[in-house]
Amino acid sequence: MKSYQVDENGFYGEFGGAYVPEILYKCVHDLQEAYLPIIESEEFKKEYHALLRDYVGRPSPLYYARRMSEKYGCRLYLKREDLNHTGAHKINNTIGQILLARKMGKTRIIAETGAGQHGVATATACALMNMKCEVFMGATDVERQHTNVERMRMLGAEVHPVRTGNMTLSDACSAAIRDWCCHPKDTYYLVGSTMGPHPYPDLVAKMQSVISEEIKGQLEEKEGRDYPDYLIACIGGGSNAAGTIYHYMDDERVKIVLAEAGGQGYMTDRTAATIHRGTTGILHGAKMLVMQDEDGQIQEAFTISAGLDYPGVGPMHCNMAKQGRTEVLSINDDEAIRGGYELTRMEGIIPAIESAHAIAALEKLSFKPDDVVVLTVSGRGDKDIETYLRSKV
Ligand SMILES: *Cc1c(COP(=O)(O)O)cnc(C)c1O
Repeated sequence: MKSYQVDENGFYGEFGGAYVPEILYKCVHDLQEAYLPIIESEEFKKEYHALLRDYVGRPSPLYYARRMSEKYGCRLYLKREDLNHTGAHKINNTIGQILLARKMGKTRIIAETGAGQHGVATATACALMNMKCEVFMGATDVERQHTNVERMRMLGAEVHPVRTGNMTLSDACSAAIRDWCCHPKDTYYLVGSTMGPHPYPDLVAKMQSVISEEIKGQLEEKEGRDYPDYLIACIGGGSNAAGTIYHYMDDERVKIVLAEAGGQGYMTDRTAATIHRGTTGILHGAKMLVMQDEDGQIQEAFTISAGLDYPGVGPMHCNMAKQGRTEVLSINDDEAIRGGYELTRMEGIIPAIESAHAIAALEKLSFKPDDVVVLTVSGRGDKDIETYLRSKV
């Protein structure tokens, strides 16, 4: 049977791998050797799941959205990652990786962040575990996302503004990799999405897979069967999507629909729709679809959604899209805003603008009345209120 899981060399079809400077070979290799034995050990699982339960607040509810089900003519459930501590799915990953780093004997944590969500989740986990935390963030983002910078500092992290390139997420990733090259011994690079060199895409997917593990049990209870007809999630680097689909990837009964950020339209220059627009290239340690010009210069991504603002997309998703396993829709800024308002007015849930892309995918699909649809609300919208108000509908 064809599998969409990573192979023993760290590839998903033609995508993935570990393309790192020589000085990081050992670091990356050590991590490749260490991660599975550690995260599959009973001791790790016990500690990780206890923290997910008592600290993060899991399991997150699977909520039957009655009014929106009526509107779209299906049985729509929302997987409420927005209710997690710190307001999004990212904490599932940072808690897991911080335990892994500790078990590997690392003492210093570095991370990259765009909107600051992953930075906050990392700083939170570091405060919890009493680890030193340094976060790289594009100088433009430091200005745009000031509250998250203050949150990180309050949590005890040091924030380094990065002044190269466009001074955004992609440059922050490069800076984090450069720092890692200088401190390979004591430093653990805590990657925030299903990207980076192998084993990160697989590691992050496994840390987020708690989402689909819970969906299975919750659907069994509510619907009498443990699988949905549709799974829907938004996709930036691909971690909440990976978590949502993880236990269903090879289950062809389940249709998978992913919403990427079209910005002002995937045919325009102001887009972050990497799967629609990208071509194969190597970025931040892995082969993936990248938005680049003919010379391989990385093109800046555009979207109102800071969390989806990345010119690449994780290798697992590149492969699944290419194989036709997933249907990827490009959702424009205005459609996402409308989706966000709709969920707010119809269910009383203000979603993150990233998650609003997934909501907006609903009207592009046609369902049968007894189709069971599970849509992941990756985060809450508190951070996006100004964006919503500016684009009032
Ligand atoms: C960061 C973020 C995303 C995008 O990241 P993925 O790795 O693609 O999940 C989506 N939603 C929210 C709320 C985020 O904070």
